[in-house]
Amino acid sequence: MSSINLHTHSVFSDGTLSPRDILKKARLAAVEFFSLTDHDSIDGWINQEYSLGYGLKIARGVEINTSFHDNLHILGYGIDTENKNLRLKLTEYRSRRIQRVKKIVAALKEIGIDISLEDLSIKDSISYGRPHIADFLIKKKIIRNRKEAFQKYLGYEKPAYIPSIGPSIEETIKVIKDAGGYAVLAHPGAVKNLINMEEFKEMGLDGVEAFYPSHSGGTIRYFIETAKKLSLFVTAGTDYHGMGSGRDSLSGFDIEESLMGKLRERFL
Ligand code: AMP
Ligand code: MN
Ligand code: MN
Ligand code: MN
Repeated sequence: MSSINLHTHSVFSDGTLSPRDILKKARLAAVEFFSLTDHDSIDGWINQEYSLGYGLKIARGVEINTSFHDNLHILGYGIDTENKNLRLKLTEYRSRRIQRVKKIVAALKEIGIDISLEDLSIKDSISYGRPHIADFLIKKKIIRNRKEAFQKYLGYEKPAYIPSIGPSIEETIKVIKDAGGYAVLAHPGAVKNLINMEEFKEMGLDGVEAFYPSHSGGTIRYFIETAKKLSLFVTAGTDYHGMGSGRDSLSGFDIEESLMGKLRERFL
């Protein structure tokens, strides 16, 4: 058994800690296999000596939100972070995120919540999303936490909901694989009724994140079985976003390393 957590976010997207601080915490939490998977950003991997000093086995990762559905996200692991096409595409996806944030700000205005883009002090180096808007609403005391922001305003089909303008599932898998990575379906429990795993396999999917905090035992078993049938590997991740984010568990899942199949070769 090994402690595995391959799904975390830093300040390069919507997490609250630096990559280095997450690593320190992961080590304290006795995580053995680790990945940082910022939304549409690999900047947390650049110029960092990640494999040194922390004693963790690390695979370089990213999480890409598709336009297929609010919760249809694909994780990429073992990617070449110098890959030109990957970097170009992620830059494009981040600029689309800013377009979306502008639309959300306009939708909030419609319902009487007046914030401006300047309030959010947007920087090119960060991958923006709804949590950044939520954090600003918390600062303004309009809501208490990110969860409330999603329940009241920003979540799927709520008054200020604007659909993702990310890439298609097909493009996402291709971008990851062309950069030498493996493509893994994130939090499949959240999209269970919308997807056909066989179609995914045909599109080139390599693995599925069966172990995820909100998955029941039944959901975990279902995805392990499905993965076996389709020769997909299995991963585990907590979707850590830092203290106060509502997604603040960094402890890994204790599972058999062999479930990760060929992904094991990608850890440094
Ligand atoms: P976006 O990237 O703009 O589509 O926003 C999605 C992100 O919002 C997810 O990656 C989570 O970090 C966060 N999120 C989604 N739903 C919730 C929720 N109910 N409570 C807290 N954070 C959430
Ligand atoms: Mn997030
Ligand atoms: Mn996700
Ligand atoms: Mn995530």
